[in-house]
Amino acid sequence: MSHGTHLESAFTRAAHAVLDHLAITSGLSTWALCRTDPTGSHTLVVVDHHQIVRPHTTIDEPLGADAPHRIVEPITFPNGQYFGEMVGYGSHSREVTHAQVQVLASLLGALAAAEVALATERRESQLRDGLLDPLTGLATRQGWEQRIRSDEQFCREFGETAAVLVIELDELKRSNETQGHSVGDEQLRLAGTVLREVLGGHHFAARITGDRLGALMIGVNDHEMGELERTTRQALAAAEVSAAIGVVRRRPETGLSGAMAAADEIIEQTHAVERVAVADAGHVAALMDAMDRGAIRAYFQPIVDLRTGEVVALEALARWQSADGVREPDQFLPQLQQAGLLGALFDRILDDGLEKLVEFRRVSPNLQLAVNFEFDTKPVNSLIDTVRDRLARHNLPPSALSLELSERQTFELPVDVLHELFAVAEMGVQLMLDDFGTGFASLETLTTLPVTGVKLDRRFTGQVVHGERESIVVKAMIALAAETGLTVIAEGIETQLQCDRLVRMGCRLGQGYLFALPQPADSLATVLSAPLVSTF
Ligand code: C2E
Ligand code: CA
Ligand code: CA
Repeated sequence: MSHGTHLESAFTRAAHAVLDHLAITSGLSTWALCRTDPTGSHTLVVVDHHQIVRPHTTIDEPLGADAPHRIVEPITFPNGQYFGEMVGYGSHSREVTHAQVQVLASLLGALAAAEVALATERRESQLRDGLLDPLTGLATRQGWEQRIRSDEQFCREFGETAAVLVIELDELKRSNETQGHSVGDEQLRLAGTVLREVLGGHHFAARITGDRLGALMIGVNDHEMGELERTTRQALAAAEVSAAIGVVRRRPETGLSGAMAAADEIIEQTHAVERVAVADAGHVAALMDAMDRGAIRAYFQPIVDLRTGEVVALEALARWQSADGVREPDQFLPQLQQAGLLGALFDRILDDGLEKLVEFRRVSPNLQLAVNFEFDTKPVNSLIDTVRDRLARHNLPPSALSLELSERQTFELPVDVLHELFAVAEMGVQLMLDDFGTGFASLETLTTLPVTGVKLDRRFTGQVVHGERESIVVKAMIALAAETGLTVIAEGIETQLQCDRLVRMGCRLGQGYLFALPQPADSLATVLSAPLVSTF
C-alpha cells in the first residue's frame, strides 16, 4: 500500500480523536476542519453537522463559506515535518477562531504522527505476516477480510458511507491454461497497478481471489463512486486488461458483505450478457422479426392488496411467442439490449399492455398497468412523447400507468433521462423503483428521483420467514418507505407465511406466484373477477 493510504487513515483517525475532544469542549457546529497538501490529493473535511461527525474525501469549502472567518494554519508533526494545512471557519471572533485553529492544528499534528507511526508498524507486520500480495502489490485475501471487518465496524459506529468495487479478470483461467501462467500473471499485475493508481492511496484494495481484485471505499458519495468506476474502466481498457466490474454502495442493513454479494452478482450478469452476445447473431435477426410481427407480447401478473386480495394493478412482463414455445425475458432481453431495441420493446409492451388494460378496466375500473422501463434505451420518440401518445391512443388517464425503473439503472442517470422522468411524473404517471434493495439506490436516490414507491426485491421477500435478523432488514425498508410516504410492493411472494409476515410488517401490496403467475390476457379475466387471497 502506498504511503498516502497511511497518511489518509492517520488523518481520519486523528481528526476523529480531535473531534471527540472538541465535542466536549466547544460548540462545533460551524466548524469545518480540512487537511490539504500541495498536491491536494489527501484532503479530508470533517464537519460536525447535526452532531454527526462525518469525514468527506473532498474539500467542501462552501460548508464554511457563511462563517465570518476563514483561518488557515499549517499542520506539522511534532518533529516539524509538514503534514498539510487546516482550515477553520469560525463563528466566534477572529482571535478566538485563530486560537482554536492553532490548538487544533497542533493537536492534529501530534495525533496524526502517532497514527502514522502505528500505520507504518502495521504495514511492516502485514508484510511479515504475508498480508501483501507480491504480484499485485495489493493486500491479500486475509488482509481484505480483516479490513472488511474493521471497516464494517467503523461504518456502523460513525454512520459512515462506504462502497465496494470488485474487478474480475476475464478468462484468466483459460489464458493461464493456453498461454502459460505468465499472461494471466501479467494481466493481474497490470490490474493491480491500475487499481492502485486509480485509488491514489485513498482507499484499501486487495486481491480477493485468484482472478478478483477488490477495493473498499469509505466516505464516498454517489458521484465519487461513479467517477471511480469510470476511471477504473478507462484505465483497464487502456492497459488492455479485459475485466468485469461491479461497484455497489454499502447499505446499513446488509453491510459490506451484502455489498460484496451484490457486486459479485453484477459481475455474473455482465458475464452472462457477454456469453449470450457472442452466442448467436442469427438470434437477433429472429428477434427483430418477432418484434415486427408482434410475437413479443405482454403477459400480466397481478399486484394485489395483501389484506383483501383485490387486484390493484397488473405488471406487464415481456414474453416471446416463438416457434418452440413461450420464451422468458432472460432468453431475449440481453440480445434486445445489445441490438439497441429496448426502446422499441418498451413501446411495444406499453401499447399492448394499455390495449388490454382498457378491456380489464371494464371489470375493474381503477386497475393500473405497470410497465418496465430501461432508460439507456432510445425509444423511437422520447419517453414523454411515447407515454403521452400511447395513453391518448387508448384514451386512458396518466394515473392508469406506472413505470418501473430498476434500481440498478438509477446510478448516474443521464440528465436528459432525469428530465423526462420528471416530466412523466408531472403528468401523473407513477414511478416505482424496481428491485429495491439490490443496487445502488440510497436514500439520496429516493429523494432525487420523482419516485412514488419501491418494489422490494424478491430476495428480501424470501427472507421474512427466515428469522428475526433477516426480517429486520425488510422491516427497516418498509418503515423507511412509509416514513418517506412511498408505496411498497413486495415481489416474489410464494407462500402464505411470507404474505402474513409482510402484512404484519406494514406492507400493503405484493405480487408473486402465491397469487398468480404472469399470464396472457385471455386467462386473466377469471383472475380479475375473484379475490386472490382466501383468509384474513
Ligand atoms: P421484474 O421486473 O423484477 O419482474 C418480476 C419477475 O419476477 C418476473 O420475471 C416474474 O415472472 C417473476 N416472479 C413473479 N412472481 C414471482 C414469484 O413468486 N417467485 C419467483 N421466483 N419469481 C416471480 P420475468 O417475467 O422472467 O421477468 C424478468 C425480468 O425481465 C423482469 O424483472 C424485468 O426486469 C425484465 N422485464 C420483463 N419484461 C420487461 C419489459 O417489457 N421491458 C423491460 N425493459 N424489462 C422487462
Ligand atoms: Ca418490474
Ligand atoms: Ca423487480
